Amino acid sequence: MSVEETIAQIASEVSVCTTCDLHKSRKRSVPGEGPSRAEIMFIGEGPGFYENEQGRPFVGASGQFLEQLLAQAGLKRSDVWIGNVVKCRPPDNRDPLPAELAACDVYLERQINAINPSIIVTLGRFSMNKFMPGAKISAVHGVMRKIGARCVIPMFHPAAALHQAALKPAILADFAKLPQLLEAARKESTKSAPAVQQVEEPKQLSC
Ligand code: URA
Ligand code: SF4
Repeated sequence: MSVEETIAQIASEVSVCTTCDLHKSRKRSVPGEGPSRAEIMFIGEGPGFYENEQGRPFVGASGQFLEQLLAQAGLKRSDVWIGNVVKCRPPDNRDPLPAELAACDVYLERQINAINPSIIVTLGRFSMNKFMPGAKISAVHGVMRKIGARCVIPMFHPAAALHQAALKPAILADFAKLPQLLEAARKESTKSAPAVQQVEEPKQLSC
């Protein structure tokens, strides 16, 4: 199966999934979207009102802010993959429950393995917790780490930054670092390729 076919297969399984209770109140599932060879995957929390209506991730106010943040990093929405840790909307936008996160994780794992991105950007604490259980987002945001085989950068959730003005400078600064971090992550993923002599990156930029 090609990557495109795998991604489409996952989306079709998600659309009829009844593994957790979130399926009972969903209107549309939101499997995630973006190029199947995206170098960057953004992983948010879960669909909200508009996402549940449209079946697409980040189409409400936090989506508009995410697009601004991407533009600031010289990226377009269509350049990156955007998804969530749960694919169906938690009622009244409540936090996803541990059992729901655990049930839905199989889909996200398959998406990550198929797309094989250079960088995963987690948005908010639920997707950060998948890679860095117990980490404090205020301490680790914007710092790229190698987690298993993946370069992961935790960032604040755009909705949190929209509602708490004090977080806005941090999320802006973290997104502004993305082009440099992507460069560092690309090098990491081609380390075994024939060596091209490069100037060493500052330590915090490698993963
Ligand atoms: N917030 C999220 O975490 N995900 C979405 O898709 C929309 C808003
Ligand atoms: Fe299935 Fe995930 Fe939707 Fe739960 S949230 S029903 S596990 S697709």
